[in-house]
Amino acid sequence: TKRLITPDKREEDLTEASLRPQNLAEFVGQEQARANLDVFIRAAKTRGEALDHVLFVGPPGLGKTTLAQIVARELGVGFRATSGPVIAKAGDLAALLTNLEERDVLFIDEIHRLNPAVEEILYPAMEDYELDLIIGEGPAARSVKISLSKFTLVGATTRSGLLTTPLRDRFGIPIRLNFYTVDELELVVTRGARVLGIPISKDGAREIARRARGTPRIAGRLLRRVRDFALVAGKEIIDRGAADHALSHLEVDGAGLDQMDRRYLSVIAMNYGGGPVGVETIAAALSEPRDAIEEIIEPYLVQQGFLQRTPRGRVLTAHAFKHLGLAAPTSVNQ
Ligand code: ADP
Repeated sequence: TKRLITPDKREEDLTEASLRPQNLAEFVGQEQARANLDVFIRAAKTRGEALDHVLFVGPPGLGKTTLAQIVARELGVGFRATSGPVIAKAGDLAALLTNLEERDVLFIDEIHRLNPAVEEILYPAMEDYELDLIIGEGPAARSVKISLSKFTLVGATTRSGLLTTPLRDRFGIPIRLNFYTVDELELVVTRGARVLGIPISKDGAREIARRARGTPRIAGRLLRRVRDFALVAGKEIIDRGAADHALSHLEVDGAGLDQMDRRYLSVIAMNYGGGPVGVETIAAALSEPRDAIEEIIEPYLVQQGFLQRTPRGRVLTAHAFKHLGLAAPTSVNQ
C-alpha cells in the first residue's frame, strides 16, 4: 500500500537509524517495559550470564527493533538481526546460531513467520543451547548434536497469539509494548527534530505527535514530510499552523486517521450499519489482506475508542460515527 502512515518499514526509513535512541535512558515511554528490562539486564550482567530470552509484542513501529539493539548494547554484547520470513531452511538458522558468541543477542523480527521446520530447531537451541541436526538423507541420515554459546534470543511479533505455544513458552521475558501517549510522542518528535536539525516550535511538535497514531515510526515520518512542506512554503520554523497545513494535505485528519482508516470506518458504517461484521467481510470490501487490517489498522482504532472487537464481529462506536460526520443508528452504544 502507499499509505503514508503505515507503520511498517520502508526505504526512506533508513534515516531512522540516526533517530534510534542508543540506550534505555534515551528511550522514550514504555515505562514498565523499560524498568523491567533494566532490572533483568543488571541481574544478568552481575551474574555474568546470558539474559533470558525476550519476546517483544506490539504493533509495528513501536520500538521493538530499537529495544532489541538497546538490550545488546546495555549488556555489552554482540547483536545479530534477522527475520522470520528470511530464514528459509533449518541450515540457515543453524549457521546463525553457531556463529554466536557467548551472551550475544540474536534478534528475530516477525518471529511468528518462521517456518515450522526452522522453529523445531529453535526449541533445543533456546532451552539447552544445543542444536539437533539431521545430516544426510534416507538410511544414511544420522543426527548430530552441536552445543552452542549461551545466547539471548530476542523475538518480535505483532500479536502473541500468532506464536505457537511451545515457542511462546520458551521466552522467559515477555514484554508487551503499547501505543505511546501524545506527551511521549512530543518528546520523540522534538528529539527527532533536534537530531535532523529541523527548527520546530513546541506546539508544532505537539500537533505532529497528536496525529502520529500513537507510533514513533509514524511520528518520524510525519516530521520529515512536514519539513518538506515547510521548506517549500518558505517557513523557517515548523509551528502548529505549518504542521496542520502539511498534515491536512497529507490527508491525516485531526485524530491522526488517514484515508485508509476512514475507508475502513466508512465501510462498516455505510455498508453494514455500524456492524457487527466479520473481519473477512471487511477485508473483502476493502481489498486489503486480513492480516494488515488486524495488525495495523484495527489496533489503533480500538485503542482510540472508534471500534470494538466483539465475538460477533467488528462494531463501530458512537465516537466513530461522530468522527465520520454521520448520525449513529439508535442501536449503537454511546
Ligand atoms: P518496530 O521494530 O517495533 O517496528 P522500530 O524499533 O523499528 O519499531 O522503531 C521505529 C522507529 O521509531 C525507530 O527508528 C526509532 O527512530 C523510533 N522509535 C521507536 N521507539 C522509540 C522511542 N521509544 N523513542 C524514540 N524513538 C523511537
